[in-house]
Amino acid sequence: MLGLMQGQPLLISSLIMFAERHHGDTQIVSRRVEGDIHRYTWADVGRRARQVARALDAQKLDFSDRVATLAWNGYRHLELYFGVSGSGRVLHTINPRLHPDQIAWIAEHAEDRVLCFDATFLPLVQAVHGRCPGIRQYVMLCDAKALPADTGIPNLVAYEDWIGRHPAVYDWPEFDENSASSMCYTSGTTGNPKAALYSHRSTLLHAYAAALPDVMGLSARDSVLPVVPMFHVNAWGIPYSAALTGCKLVFPGGALDGKSVYELIEAEGVTYAAGVPTVWQMLLGHMGPNKLRFSTLNRTVIGGSACPPAMITAFREQYGVEVLHAWGMTEMSPLGTLCTLKNKHQSLPEDEKMKIRLKQGRAIYGVDMRIVGDDGETLPWDGKTYGDLQVRGPWVVREYFKGEGGDPLREGWFPTGDVATIDADGYMQITDRSKDVIKSGGEWISSIDIENIAMAHPAVAMAACVGMPHPKWDERPLLVAVKKPGAEVSREELLAFYEGKTAKWQVPDDVVFVDAIPLGATGKMLKTRLREQLKDYRLPSV
Ligand code: AMP
Repeated sequence: MLGLMQGQPLLISSLIMFAERHHGDTQIVSRRVEGDIHRYTWADVGRRARQVARALDAQKLDFSDRVATLAWNGYRHLELYFGVSGSGRVLHTINPRLHPDQIAWIAEHAEDRVLCFDATFLPLVQAVHGRCPGIRQYVMLCDAKALPADTGIPNLVAYEDWIGRHPAVYDWPEFDENSASSMCYTSGTTGNPKAALYSHRSTLLHAYAAALPDVMGLSARDSVLPVVPMFHVNAWGIPYSAALTGCKLVFPGGALDGKSVYELIEAEGVTYAAGVPTVWQMLLGHMGPNKLRFSTLNRTVIGGSACPPAMITAFREQYGVEVLHAWGMTEMSPLGTLCTLKNKHQSLPEDEKMKIRLKQGRAIYGVDMRIVGDDGETLPWDGKTYGDLQVRGPWVVREYFKGEGGDPLREGWFPTGDVATIDADGYMQITDRSKDVIKSGGEWISSIDIENIAMAHPAVAMAACVGMPHPKWDERPLLVAVKKPGAEVSREELLAFYEGKTAKWQVPDDVVFVDAIPLGATGKMLKTRLREQLKDYRLPSV
């Protein structure tokens, strides 16, 4: 017997219709690439998203055709999120930090038909358009006055003209909720990039789950600053959860330096911010020396890479901001776990609470996870045994776009490539990417643990730990560190700093100071590149 409830499909258009109707006067504030601050409301987003839909109809784009973006976080990008997917096309957010060759490859692989880009990326588009014959229309996110003449790009139009010639009248179509809504290529360090292809259903379920109090905990009382880019897993789904909750949104544009982000937080009464650790490093680096304080910010969700304990402590103790440590990946839309305490933890002493907060957190309802050993056997949840982390759920990838890379699943589970422990309360802790684990004398050393200790040293801005070949131990850890501007620390001082903080055999064999650690397009340390740079390096004991 089937249930007798109504069966409206879960569609992204329903989010913008809801935000428009129930939170129509709530503000969306953007720092524009033009330099000024732009301000309008959810009602305006809805109106202009309908104009986007009509512009795509006029372009004769079919259902499921791809519309690409190369854009910062801003209001026009938000309109594309709803206008493109809401009208049944697929939004393909391209990471502009990728190499132009990769961008051209991705645009062709995705079969993009329209490319919308911020003025910042005009040179990039000029460099790649010749290699993207499938793109019929280029749209610069600006008004006609700002569109330069003689760009050399055929079929280029200013966004305001492109949508402006259409009325804001449009009936959002109804279709199967399993239809594709957006896509995102993984940063993939090996092989060709692979795309996760999200559906309306997966996006809406994720948006519901992400908004829960123990997850992102968003509400209509929040003013939310997604610093995490809209080209990185849909800004962790925040645009969708924001429409679902009706919160105020504040977009930083391309100005991600500490000063700009701080000023925006203060000016717009931001209560909630989301980003990767590197961005918060820049913010704290600006606030400390200038003796600044937050007047409204009370929560920040940090993920994408392990959040150093020193950062959690600084936010909590110096600035009174709660840090929510999150873990996920492109293939998971992206949220998998979030770290919040349980009722029984409330009475624990502060240092015990802190031990929990450092973990990547508990699974969100909807995400099933397990750790497995080398032979695929499931491992116990004891907080000590580590294994390969696998996940499954309605917003986890089943297959990559065009079947790239073959079947990614193992007995129905998606292998994340992360190595983790899970404790009896279900708190998961990543110890490494499987390829970054250091194997020393048959024991595993977590590079994240070793990096976290170094990053707690006041003179260290960033640290990476990599395994170096060793004839006796197989591998030994080497610490690569960047000093804070003007700060001093010697190799010996840094190694002595490990005393009492980790087992002796886990202390790095050596320290190499560098000016910068190579970062990938999503702000993660590129250990493959670092290892290449260190190919002539030999440990002192070798
Ligand atoms: P991406 O698909 O580019 O978002 O990368 C996903 C990968 O980032 C995960 O598989 C993890 O290796 C890493 N990652 C994300 N969040 C965290 C976190 N909180 N701690 C440690 N690693 C993380």
